[in-house]
Amino acid sequence: MIPAIRGTHDILPGEVERWQRVEAVARDIFERYGYAEVRTPVIEREELFAKGTGETTDIVQKEMYAFTDKGGERITLRPEATPSLVRVFVEHSLEQAMAVPKIYLMGPMFRYERPQKGRYRQFHQLDVEVFGISDPAIDAEVLDLAWALVTELGIANVELVINSVGCAACRPAFAEALVKALGADVTSLCTDCQRRATVNPLRIFDCKVPQDQPVIDRLPHSIDYLCASCREHFDAVVGHLGVYGIPYRISHRLVRGLDYYTRTTFEILGGNIGAQNAILGGGRYDGLVKQLGGPDRVGIGFAAGIERLVLAMPDDAGVGTRSPVFVAAMGEAARGTAIGLLRDLRRAGLEAHMEYEGRSIKSQMKRADRIKAVLTLIIGDDELAAGEVAIKDMKTSEQVRVPRDGAVAHVKSRLAK
Ligand code: AMP
Repeated sequence: MIPAIRGTHDILPGEVERWQRVEAVARDIFERYGYAEVRTPVIEREELFAKGTGETTDIVQKEMYAFTDKGGERITLRPEATPSLVRVFVEHSLEQAMAVPKIYLMGPMFRYERPQKGRYRQFHQLDVEVFGISDPAIDAEVLDLAWALVTELGIANVELVINSVGCAACRPAFAEALVKALGADVTSLCTDCQRRATVNPLRIFDCKVPQDQPVIDRLPHSIDYLCASCREHFDAVVGHLGVYGIPYRISHRLVRGLDYYTRTTFEILGGNIGAQNAILGGGRYDGLVKQLGGPDRVGIGFAAGIERLVLAMPDDAGVGTRSPVFVAAMGEAARGTAIGLLRDLRRAGLEAHMEYEGRSIKSQMKRADRIKAVLTLIIGDDELAAGEVAIKDMKTSEQVRVPRDGAVAHVKSRLAK
């Protein structure tokens, strides 16, 4: 046997229904909020993420599945969706094409991380992005959309955490304040943090090393260093959350691991799914479109992990709503009629099954039980001669006979009850 690659996973019948449910609920919500779907290649130029996600991020430095293709180009499997969607916005001039550029994407992402529960090397995201709107009302709308996603999936024990990381005008002063506050303590931190202190001090807040935490907890908070317009923006966002009635917690440590965030950053945590409990995360990225060669347009969005939504969703979340029916035939002559009936049931929108191996009626009924048929339609010599079908209720074992021509309508009306 040649097994699947470490950190990847197959999604099998029994579980796939939960994925379909997440995807269906997400699509419905996204469309209600005015987002249109886009689909992009899973391979992109490595440069898109080096520039977009950021050279100094863990994703770009350690986690990309990047390679040189046969033509000598540097290619990567996408590690995240935002740079791809910014590329789409710029490359296809979506600003002209769409009244409001609001787009979403669903699909696999690839990161060479250490696999564990809830963390994979190929995982799947739902990603939404909206471009060109600076007003804090859109930040709150995006948060409301994220909240709708987790609540409509019935996910319990969730918490929205938000923060503001400021903008190009006020962030440098905050980064400086961090370095100053660290002072000599920097040498007591892990080697990653020591590197972060010189290349991107905000990233120190991402550190999970237990010994570093007391020092990190004493560091200044970004929201105390916001310029007047970032402060006003942040206050307006939380004000709108009050209007929406969405509970939130301000987390000073929420800077997120990517370079492009400005102002609002957020995550939804919880869902009783273990250590990897960030269900979704995102924020505003006001400089990214320009940085990737587009016009000077702001943007905001988030990505949710489908694996984590599926894990956090309750077991009874409305999956598997079909009611299968089974068609059983006794004898060769009945078989042709049964196959015709099978086709008619399927054409009428029902899930219908039949046993082709020509087994006894007993083994056919066993098969009907295994597929959890609600009704079984039986055609034997008697029924054939009378132009009728016997319909057995698999729960009560009650049986009725109806004319062949009315059988599909009869089954449909029984299942509608
Ligand atoms: P990020 O793109 O890192 O901000 O992550 C956004 C969301 O994607 C997270 O909140 C997770 O739900 C999900 N996610 C990120 N990385 C992984 C991974 N390696 N495996 C599974 N889900 C992930």
